[in-house]
Amino acid sequence: INVPKDSQKPREDKLLRGLLSEEFNEGSCLSRCQSSLYRKPSRYEPSQYLVSKLRSYEMLHKRCGPGTEAYKRATEQLGHDSRSVGECRYIVWIAVSGLGNRIISLVSAFLYALLTERVLLVDQRSTDITHLFCEPFPGTSWSLPLDFPLMGQLDSSRCYRAINWTRNIPSHLSLYFMHDYEDHDKMFFCERDQNLIRQVPWVVFNSNKYFAPSLWLIPSFQTELIKLFPEKDTVFHHLGRYLLHPTNQVWGLITRFYNAYLSRADETLGVQVRVFSNPDGYLEHVMNQILSCTQREKLLPELTTLESQVTNKSTSPKLKAVLVTSLYPEYSEKLRAMYWESPSSTGDMVQVYQPSQEMFQQTDEKLHDQKALAEMYLLSLTDKLVTSGLSTFGYVAQGLGGLKAWMLYSPTNHSTPDPPCFKAVSMEPCFHRPPLYGSQAKAVNSTRFVRRCEEWTTGIKIV
Ligand code: GDP
Repeated sequence: INVPKDSQKPREDKLLRGLLSEEFNEGSCLSRCQSSLYRKPSRYEPSQYLVSKLRSYEMLHKRCGPGTEAYKRATEQLGHDSRSVGECRYIVWIAVSGLGNRIISLVSAFLYALLTERVLLVDQRSTDITHLFCEPFPGTSWSLPLDFPLMGQLDSSRCYRAINWTRNIPSHLSLYFMHDYEDHDKMFFCERDQNLIRQVPWVVFNSNKYFAPSLWLIPSFQTELIKLFPEKDTVFHHLGRYLLHPTNQVWGLITRFYNAYLSRADETLGVQVRVFSNPDGYLEHVMNQILSCTQREKLLPELTTLESQVTNKSTSPKLKAVLVTSLYPEYSEKLRAMYWESPSSTGDMVQVYQPSQEMFQQTDEKLHDQKALAEMYLLSLTDKLVTSGLSTFGYVAQGLGGLKAWMLYSPTNHSTPDPPCFKAVSMEPCFHRPPLYGSQAKAVNSTRFVRRCEEWTTGIKIV
């Protein structure tokens, strides 16, 4: 059995070329020290500037995090408007929507924390986060303590629209960046508002979006962002691998599946099937789309008859493992049956596996969420990836894996799109609802860092 051995890897690789801190005790979070055994080394190296920024962030978090004097003083200030900003400023991140949405908004909030020297704290009332991820920062915690004074009013109080900036600066501010956010919420992305927000000690993010691309369009952040990410489309890739370490329980789901089904294959292909239409479930035109995409892009061999197979047989047939993730079982069942019932034109052997069939979304059910995370992670370990366009579940897999996925277009009129899929120009998630007016609209048209998403042209992504 080809189970990876811990000792064969240099320490340098284990720490993802400086991305991760050396301070952690290995047993507390196996995924942090073992991920490099399962994932090929990234083609993208983090900049030295990013590495040093992360180390200073860790010191800041230790100095200001829960349990410190500074945290105590900052919470005592809450509710009192004042002109003086304390020594520490914070972001409180609130989990909303499915896990993929949560992850991309969490990574965006962390990027904002790095840019503005704030401490990122995670609201743990929807208890999933501690079941899913290890603590990412050494010697401290990112969980917002349950006795946080504003606990009952995080989502509604002191909304952006209600603030009169000409009077005192408020001690906290709730931001709302969801699919239905309004023009006044979008003012956050203006330079003027950033100057004001800088003085607010507590900023609360209610968001399910990847708003990082719009931060690139704020002039005062741009110089810093270019230094942090000289390869622009690596924001999610580096920050995701820095921040998101599955807990030991989720790591067990990942490694047991990997070792049993994927480790022996010569090549692995991930296929993530997300159906957004009504009705959802198994749809013939989606199945045809998957087949059309994987054959056209030569991700899977074509099927043939027994006679022609005898003449065309490759001398060294490969073992190809296909990891299908979907809420429904039928897509992988059909694929598996096809490659059993007929030979492949190349003689390659195609094995098809699907870890779970949950049938419907059950966010905040512990094991359901853990399986979802395990599957995103497993997809990110494959050599090549097909994802469903618009799905944040797929965005997480491609970003963590450092892969440019083939994305399936969202079908319209219950028919298979032609072409069925496209290769992503960058591995970054799409920000589906960016504020595209005023200075931000001008910036999108003139910048080289951000462009419209291929699958959703009102969205933008970092390239
Ligand atoms: P999105 O809706 O595709 O953008 O992705 P989200 O992750 O935000 O929400 C979908 C949720 O449905 C996931 O978090 C899971 O709870 C569930 N789900 C969807 N597809 C799958 C799948 O392939 N496997 C598993 N285990 N869960 C899934």
